[in-house]
Amino acid sequence: PSASANMKDRADRATTEQVLDPRTRTILLKMVGRGVIDEVNGCVSTGKEANVYHALSPEKAHLALKIYKTSILVFKDRDKYVSGEHRFRRGYSRHNPRKMVRLWAEKEMRNLKRLRAAGLRAPEPLEVRENVLVMSFLGDADGWAAPRLKDAVLPATACAPLYAELLLALRTLFHTCRLVHADLSEYNILFHEEHLYIIDVSQSVEHDHPAAFDFLRNDLRNAEDFFARRGVRCLGLRRAFEFVTRERLPAEGEVEGAADADAESVLQRWLAEDAPPEDEAHDGQEDAVFLRAHIPRSLNEVFDPERDAAALARGDDRGLVYADALGLVPRARFEGVEEKDEDGDTEGSEDSDDEEDGD
Ligand code: ADP
Ligand code: MG
Repeated sequence: PSASANMKDRADRATTEQVLDPRTRTILLKMVGRGVIDEVNGCVSTGKEANVYHALSPEKAHLALKIYKTSILVFKDRDKYVSGEHRFRRGYSRHNPRKMVRLWAEKEMRNLKRLRAAGLRAPEPLEVRENVLVMSFLGDADGWAAPRLKDAVLPATACAPLYAELLLALRTLFHTCRLVHADLSEYNILFHEEHLYIIDVSQSVEHDHPAAFDFLRNDLRNAEDFFARRGVRCLGLRRAFEFVTRERLPAEGEVEGAADADAESVLQRWLAEDAPPEDEAHDGQEDAVFLRAHIPRSLNEVFDPERDAAALARGDDRGLVYADALGLVPRARFEGVEEKDEDGDTEGSEDSDDEEDGD
């Protein structure tokens, strides 16, 4: 057969299990033509918003192709991630599913890059074209995908170290990548080579997204629940939240906030000094209160200026859950706090080409 017929044949394989629309098939064909992929094999996962396929590179390396569905209905309920996200201010068109999906795929690519740049365990993103994201495959040499954390068979002794690994990863995600996963659970973590790999970050939000703290709280609750069910002594939601968001972690015996101690040793210390088991009921109650408490995110939302300024001036930041995470410190440093508009349009401008037809 001619080269192009051969290429077509390979791209066609992807359509055998799940129907791909012609445009997506063209994208796959071009990827074969450019030598990005050589062969598309079976479907690893069929989801509501995307299907994931196993593929091979020309060098026979295993790849994962995440192909986002382009049906308009699927992406409707994603609005909550988008509102308040300045990257999506322009060019987010509810009426053009192809463009919308392209933005999600590109966002996942960018977010994966940020995770990898911070040294976090995640698939390596290789290329994105419209609704198709190519990334490294997490699995064994025969092409079997790594299990989701939910399905993984974890030796009892592995659970506590994995819990610690996850909290440290979330702290790095927050402070270095400046992201909150926003859909973290045992479904979006793969257990690969004895470690946890974070996946599915297309909906992850900037850490200054108005609802970032709400998303983070949900992420942490899922993590705490999962490992608590496996008998791990966890920090408790409130303390876990503090561990992830605090700008500076106090070293042992130091004044709160004075030092930025090694996160791992702080975590181990907090876990060791955590409430004894008989206090768990009480902790659970604290968590419940904490879950209901509104945690404001941006400085715009933060201040009931009179009340909060007075409290800070008194040196009393109890109840200002956000004070440390925002870098607010009572008294002295309070004067200098100004709203800052980070990130400006550094990456936002990427999205703005030919995307003027938003609603
Ligand atoms: P969604 O949940 O939106 O359908 P995910 O990114 O969570 O998409 O991927 C769905 C499933 O596909 C995952 O649970 C996992 O089993 C599999 N998967 C995703 N990415 C990879 C990868 N890089 N390597 C191996 N399997 C993957
Ligand atoms: Mg998922």
